[in-house]
Amino acid sequence: MGNVVAIVGRPNVGKSTLFNRLIGSRQAIVNDEAGTTRDRQYGKVEWAGREFSVIDTGGWVVQSDDVFEEEINKQVKIAVEEADVILFVVDVMNGATSLDDEVAHILRCSGKPVILAANKADTYDRHAAAAEFYSLGLGDPYCLSAVNGSGTGEVLDRVVELLPSAGEEAHDEELPRIAVVGRPNAGKSSLINAFIGEERHIVTDIAGTTRDSIYTRYDKFGLNFYLVDTAGIRKKGKVNEDLEYYSVIRSIRAIENSDVCLLMLDATRGIESQDLNIFSIIRKNKKGLIVCVNKWDLVEDKSTAAIKTYERAIRERMAPFTDFPILFISALTKQRIFKVLETAKAVYENRRRRVTTGRLNEIMLPIIEQTPPPAWKGKYIKIKYITQLPAGSVPSFAFFCNLPQWVKEPYRRFLENQLREHWDFHGTPIQVFIREK
Ligand code: GDP
Ligand code: GDP
Repeated sequence: MGNVVAIVGRPNVGKSTLFNRLIGSRQAIVNDEAGTTRDRQYGKVEWAGREFSVIDTGGWVVQSDDVFEEEINKQVKIAVEEADVILFVVDVMNGATSLDDEVAHILRCSGKPVILAANKADTYDRHAAAAEFYSLGLGDPYCLSAVNGSGTGEVLDRVVELLPSAGEEAHDEELPRIAVVGRPNAGKSSLINAFIGEERHIVTDIAGTTRDSIYTRYDKFGLNFYLVDTAGIRKKGKVNEDLEYYSVIRSIRAIENSDVCLLMLDATRGIESQDLNIFSIIRKNKKGLIVCVNKWDLVEDKSTAAIKTYERAIRERMAPFTDFPILFISALTKQRIFKVLETAKAVYENRRRRVTTGRLNEIMLPIIEQTPPPAWKGKYIKIKYITQLPAGSVPSFAFFCNLPQWVKEPYRRFLENQLREHWDFHGTPIQVFIREK
């Protein structure tokens, strides 16, 4: 199960600096979509053998001193609902403010584990100043400097201590876990209703059903699957859902707990940053993806050319991962609803596809011979054999080679494309590793 750590605090205390510091090193290694603005609020951290997500609540909304306190309180409340551990950042240079008091109050009432991070403690003199934060009633402050990195290791150690013990919620491993995600009004509830019937609405409005089972099993049209619960759908209407923050933060858990994500787009609107933010979370979790262009009933020009243009626009925005199904649907008229489930099942199977070492080498070695990696400073680079790695959430392949360090990104991408051409990995990320042999 995915674990979420939320960074909260008033503006300018250093939340985004700390966020970058925590995910920075890993981001550089993974090098997935680094450097794009949409990566700023959500990232994965691995520490002491545990993996968790970090969200910077400040990253989604304008952070300035004139943001209403009420607004910040609301942000904190939602972060508290969605997170397993809260990292509450305060500023030792500025001292405790009334807004800090208010946030502390919400956190104390929440019962969630909180780490009080006294930031900007760049020097030891400043550590003494952190004592005043005892008044917040959240225990010992952890002194750190997001800018120079001191103290962040201790904070991460503490995060790992406070994470709920790793234990999966029981589910049948053979069935796809499907999450329906997308921005408000894209048609998520309508699609779910189309899948399972209107009765769902009755269940949704019961107060206090925030953390029930996350998986609900269905058997529809002869297909078995789990729908992963999306908090954003259940809690609809309680807050201003127009704010990007709410819909994105509320889709994180569902994405992390799924195998395949149905990303709902609204055909009557273009692709916006919010859609890309959700896409980016799906990517970082290496989940299966189907893009559902919903409200197709409202689109007048349904010509092949129009569809092509639409598809191209979507793939361009989501590059370099472009090998995923795009379906044009209507949740309202139930057009192609069965196709959605059928495709989800296919993507799920692609994600679990195993290729034998024999077949891999038989197909790939001649291709590599035909188009070898470019030589480097006169050194001939030879890939000797290929094998699919046994474990891993997505199909992962190791290419064994004499000089792995000289096989560059474009060639790695070439290999990935060749794998995709010869085996069906539609909708699923795959990983290509170049290893020394
Ligand atoms: P946010 O609004 O809470 O996300 O705060 P930012 O991360 O944008 O930081 C606000 C300001 O505080 C920026 O000018 C940062 O450079 C500065 N800052 C952040 N962390 C530290 C720190 O550890 N030490 C010092 N001296 N400044 C910091
Ligand atoms: P959610 O916020 O993503 O759960 O979106 P909803 O399912 O609540 O849908 C938002 C609005 O769009 C509602 O008024 C729906 O009736 C409407 N809607 C959803 N799907 C479709 C569709 O396929 N076609 C049309 N015309 N309207 C739709």
